[in-house]
Amino acid sequence: MATAAPKKVSQPKVSQTTCFIDGQWVPAASGKTFETINPATEEVICEVAEGDKADVDKAVKAARAQFDDGEWSRMDARDRGRLMYKLADLIEAEADELAALETLDNGKPISDSRNADIPLVIDCIRYYAGWADKIQGDTIPIRGDYLCYTRREPVGVVGQIIPWNFPALMAAWKWGPALATGCTIVMKPAEQTPLTCLRMARLAQKAGIPDGVINVVPGYGPTAGAAIVAHPGVDKIAFTGEGSTAKIIQRTALETMKRVTFELGGKSPNVIFADADLDKAIAGAHFALYFNQGQCCCAGSRLFVEDRVYDDVVDRIAEYNAGHPVGDPFDPETKQGPQVDQAQFDKIMQYVEYGKQDGASCITGGNRVGDRGYFIEPTLFAGVTDDMRIAREEIFGPVLSVLKFSDVDELIHRANNTNFGLAAAVWTRDIGKAHRFAAKVRAGTVWVNCYDVFDAAAPFGGFKESGIGRELGEAGLAAYTENKTVTLALG
Ligand code: ADP
Repeated sequence: MATAAPKKVSQPKVSQTTCFIDGQWVPAASGKTFETINPATEEVICEVAEGDKADVDKAVKAARAQFDDGEWSRMDARDRGRLMYKLADLIEAEADELAALETLDNGKPISDSRNADIPLVIDCIRYYAGWADKIQGDTIPIRGDYLCYTRREPVGVVGQIIPWNFPALMAAWKWGPALATGCTIVMKPAEQTPLTCLRMARLAQKAGIPDGVINVVPGYGPTAGAAIVAHPGVDKIAFTGEGSTAKIIQRTALETMKRVTFELGGKSPNVIFADADLDKAIAGAHFALYFNQGQCCCAGSRLFVEDRVYDDVVDRIAEYNAGHPVGDPFDPETKQGPQVDQAQFDKIMQYVEYGKQDGASCITGGNRVGDRGYFIEPTLFAGVTDDMRIAREEIFGPVLSVLKFSDVDELIHRANNTNFGLAAAVWTRDIGKAHRFAAKVRAGTVWVNCYDVFDAAAPFGGFKESGIGRELGEAGLAAYTENKTVTLALG
């Protein structure tokens, strides 16, 4: 993707701050609001409607009515696709504004919002728009004088609960397959970052997507989120967030046998062999962890380095950290902005302490940057061993743990010795070694000599406690359709 020429970006105006239900922009039934904070300054950006059970109920009824009796799921699939293309075009037309809103609410550098998040949003909506008229069943040669075929029908009303690390992109990942298949949506954005999702809902309305298809209820997880999960009018939950939250959701969803897909955390092994192109591997390992302030579920947070090159790799990552600009996320030169909120900041600083207590060497960072905003220095721990908390638990911040290995078989065992299984990567010039690693590592995505290569066409999701189901690609459609078998006696 092309990098925008550096220029100072002004802060955007906020327009949408209420619930979006059945095509109406409405305050919460309770009249309550919550503050969304600019993490770079700790100042309040604006008040946003605090949706709860009553608002969720209204939103589910609207989504239900649209799904059961409305035009959306019955519309010619090609027309549904056309409306999605229109939405993508409108997002593209407002890309700079949306990128700035994302940076304001989340704190991520404007160069990332502009060159990664928003282009990926547009791409995802377009990719799934193309699927709308290509979702088809099979004819099946069953025994006897029958015609047997399957239909792939939309699963119904989907509750979509998303996190704050890629707010607009997570909305796109969830809207794309839901819209393409003809489902209707009740979405709850994260309480830290509701603004781009609301703005995108406005654009969906402008694109002509019918009322009740997309409903957005901002609010907190245990209230608005839990109400979506418990609602009997919702057929499926798609959730991205923490494993502990997913377990709560899974229990409640079971009561009404809702389908669930989960995209959860990780502690992804990133392996550098001594025979790798070290310049690329080191730059890649740095990006794998520090991109998005370390707030990626697939962050390469366990960096395994072969003993012969271990010291060199540690030294050179430390050099990268020294030249990694942390600061104002609206400055186009900034590579690392603030963490999203005080709670994440505190959690990360606690892990820095754990790293020190457990005996790892803090090579760079470990401190707050400045005294305003949730900024943390790029932090590098060497001498990390598998049992340390910083090697086992997801930190979700700019803290990299570097571990040493010498034996390949032992390495695979160590890489897999985790409850997570979201992503993994390997850097080597030995093609056999790369494929052996890719086959043996228990992770939903494996990158070879690259990291964080995302494409709307490539499925993404976790093994083990990193998730259930897949998003993106054709695989991402499966969770939004029911297979119906129709058998017709011919005689
Ligand atoms: P994170 O640490 O990324 O905030 P969470 O799992 O807490 O991870 O949050 C992800 C999303 O899940 C957010 O939109 C949050 O509001 C929502 N959430 C949190 N708790 C619940 C819950 N009990 N039920 C439904 N949604 C929840």
